[in-house]
Amino acid sequence: MSFYHGVARPEGLRAGFGHWSLIFRAVLAESFLRMRTLVTGGAGFLGSHLCERLLGEGHEVICLDNYFTGRKRNVQHLADHPNFELVRHDVTEPYKFEVDRIYNLACPASPPHYQHNPIKTIKTSVMGAIHCLGLAKRLGARVFQASTSEVYGDPEVHPQPEAYWGNVNPVGVRSCYDEGKRCAETLFFDYHRQNGVDIRVVRIFNTYGPRMLPDDGRVVSNFIVQALRGEDLTVYGDGTQTRSFCYVDDLIEGFVRLMEHPSLTGPVNIGNPGEFTMLELAEKVLCKVGGKSKIVHLPLPGDDPKQRQPDISLASSKLGWAPRVSLDEGLEPTIAYFRQLLVEV
Ligand code: NAD
Ligand code: UDP
Repeated sequence: MSFYHGVARPEGLRAGFGHWSLIFRAVLAESFLRMRTLVTGGAGFLGSHLCERLLGEGHEVICLDNYFTGRKRNVQHLADHPNFELVRHDVTEPYKFEVDRIYNLACPASPPHYQHNPIKTIKTSVMGAIHCLGLAKRLGARVFQASTSEVYGDPEVHPQPEAYWGNVNPVGVRSCYDEGKRCAETLFFDYHRQNGVDIRVVRIFNTYGPRMLPDDGRVVSNFIVQALRGEDLTVYGDGTQTRSFCYVDDLIEGFVRLMEHPSLTGPVNIGNPGEFTMLELAEKVLCKVGGKSKIVHLPLPGDDPKQRQPDISLASSKLGWAPRVSLDEGLEPTIAYFRQLLVEV
């Protein structure tokens, strides 16, 4: 059964009928507010934080993952929660669940992971989108796509507003991810226009925090793990390329605000506009971790974007959202997480 926000409360309940009425009201209110939510890619870095947040708000959560880059460990602390269910499944195959909301996060996100099997990556984005949209259409559920700043490619407009169409190489090493995500956005908007599917599309800018994989290959985890191990920090190219780093808690707040917005389909940029060169990031991490590591330079990977910074005016005006955690603040719990993880393994 499906319950949504905004259902009118019966008059009798407003008037009140003593003790039993209070209990009945509580049960009813909980039923109205509780939704059954599917999170694909739920055992990954972002997915696990999202599952935690939704359970904390009293929702039922089905977490679906094929464990390519996700880990059971990320959701182990949720396993005994009565409202949590973990399902092993690959989104390139169809699936059926009775849900009110779908967050579609399944897709490897770090360049080494998504380039490991590029054909699988693009299948995951495109077929994964078709399967979740088909399910949403059948159920009348609202469906959310985790898109990416990569849709802007190597941007010629800076910072990037949602209206910018991007500068993407369709045949390069990053294309399996960039074009897969672009095609998924197209599918979301076509299902919306053609079939009236209730969609939300977020464009995520580089996000970091606890539960990233230590061998993920993304820059924040690489630098922290290298510094903690006393290894040299590998800056690709001359390190003047920029990224804008968002702490995971800020991102998840933006997800939930967009999903529960009554009408905004997006795409909406969610990210922290604080922009840093990779050299600045390396120096920050070295300063916080300490030790003897130095900075070394390695060749720049193909099609690496030179700059990236979100224009967040839409998120700010329509969702009342802005990031709260600075890079300096967010690096602390992230370093603490990896320090603990490296002791355990
Ligand atoms: P992640 O790799 O930790 O999580 C992705 C999850 O999807 C993993 O649990 C993985 O096992 C699962 N998965 C991959 N292929 C699958 C398949 N075929 N079937 C089922 N599950 C599959 O990465 P993340 O950082 O948590 O990213 C989550 C989503 O957000 C991704 O869609 C990613 O493209 C998007 N995103 C993330 C960032 C970021 O900075 N973290 C930036 C832009 C976009
Ligand atoms: N990068 C780096 N050293 C590393 C890993 C990445 O200098 O060990 C650079 C990479 O070339 C890119 C930036 O850091 O310019 C961000 O890389 P990441 O893979 O985290 O994200 P994306 O390129 O997808 O934004």
